[in-house]
Amino acid sequence: MSFEVKERDLLARIGKLKTKSGTVETPMLFPVINPIIQPIPPRRIREDFGFNALITNAYILKKHFQNQPAEKGLHKFLDYDGVVMTDSGAYQILVYGDIEVTPEEIIKYQEQIDTDIATILDLPTGWKVSKEHAEKTVNETLSRAKQLFNIRTREDILWVGPVQGGRHLDLVAYSAVEMGKLPFHIYALGSPTEVMERYRFDVLVDMVMTAKMKLPLDKPLHLFGAGHPFMFSLAVALGCDLFDSAAYAIYAREDRYMTETGTLRLNEIDYFPCACQNCSNKTPRQVLEMPKQKRQAFLAEHNLHICLSELKRIKQAIKDGRLWEHLEMRAHGHPALLQALKKLKKYEDFIEKHSPATKKSGLFFFNSVGLVRPEVVQHRKRLAERYSPPNDVEILLLMPQTQSKPFHKAKEFRKNEKLLKKILKTDLSKVHVCFYTAPFGIVPIELDEVYPLSQHEVALPLDGETIAYVVNNATEYINRTNYKTIILVNDPNNWNYKLLNACKKVCKQKHIKFKALNMESLGSMKANNL
Ligand SMILES: [Zn+2]
Repeated sequence: MSFEVKERDLLARIGKLKTKSGTVETPMLFPVINPIIQPIPPRRIREDFGFNALITNAYILKKHFQNQPAEKGLHKFLDYDGVVMTDSGAYQILVYGDIEVTPEEIIKYQEQIDTDIATILDLPTGWKVSKEHAEKTVNETLSRAKQLFNIRTREDILWVGPVQGGRHLDLVAYSAVEMGKLPFHIYALGSPTEVMERYRFDVLVDMVMTAKMKLPLDKPLHLFGAGHPFMFSLAVALGCDLFDSAAYAIYAREDRYMTETGTLRLNEIDYFPCACQNCSNKTPRQVLEMPKQKRQAFLAEHNLHICLSELKRIKQAIKDGRLWEHLEMRAHGHPALLQALKKLKKYEDFIEKHSPATKKSGLFFFNSVGLVRPEVVQHRKRLAERYSPPNDVEILLLMPQTQSKPFHKAKEFRKNEKLLKKILKTDLSKVHVCFYTAPFGIVPIELDEVYPLSQHEVALPLDGETIAYVVNNATEYINRTNYKTIILVNDPNNWNYKLLNACKKVCKQKHIKFKALNMESLGSMKANNL
């Protein structure tokens, strides 16, 4: 097995990918090396920037250098002793239409030059293409993929099988199912470059998730052309393990300065928001005055630094179980990313199913975007599918969540509990207490210490969508259970009257006795108020 998963969060994983030239840790970004012009020498990419892998283009090597890389060996030829991946020229097909090499030649060539990770010559679907054309690219790529296993002669090279289909999700699904049947070491999503250039990250979510749900989950997934750090966390969270970036160099050529939240134009910044070695020693004005080539190298180095530091932050977030929080922070850097995050609602079941159930850290709930988090979905499912209230209780007492947790030990609950005993003239043993909470909805008192029901922080007051979610969750619960009486302690400050009205309505329909108490007037209340 060449891929081993060590840590997980959402669909992201920290893993080890074994190649014949060493093991790399995923998620991994392969900087793209153009063998003809290169702003940073490959040796420095490893020694100064810490990238243990890079990607270069087998088609360009073949076209410009013919047998030289094979004679020297690719690693010596590039002067790089890390892991080398080669792309096949598929991107050149997308840009130039056709190229002067056959799928068979490029397979043999990659074996001859001794690459570590190789790619078949797939046929990229592209962005604005008809369904018929998309279907053609899918079928042609598939037939080339099948040929590989008859042509290749070496067993020590990892092969990448690209999934095509573009925006046509049914074709992406078909392509992923069929590619998944072939014994590739790595799968890839082809041709999302244009989708990303147009900032259609919501479409990217559909494409990645469609492929991910149909591909073997134990193999790594490469996202071709995903080179900007501001979307790394989204792609990683969707289960992309490998990326390649030419953007660090292309942007540098165009005087564009990457940050982890977007791109700045060099002539529009007064201060560098970065403490890398380059940015610490120069001002944007000084860099603008550098000769073109020097400036380009300066920016390429900075851009690469930003890519790596974002990748490290993401890995730490995976280890800490805080990838969602990181993702949400990045999503607020650009509306297109937030739109993509909202798209995850469509895939919440799959994400929940494959996310770790417990973590070492609690979760932060900021607003309704967080309602698709796997922890929230998981609680909703468990409550609906596996939970039934204690047998001997007839009264449901709905209490608001407390600031401190667990809820049942909180001071404010203890105080209210005493008052309620007096008001209800009962020892509460026949009463089943449940808390209504954001973002989890109904939390039965006996479960309130189960992770993460006591391990979260929430921002109050709640937004409308969150209130609607909890109200919905509460009425579903009432509908599903058989209490004879329901008493709601309402907290209008944080919850307005939506919950009260909804409970009243559902109780009327089910002919259940319903009482409401106002939390703030509990102290002055007497039994006869009921
Ligand atoms: Zn910098």
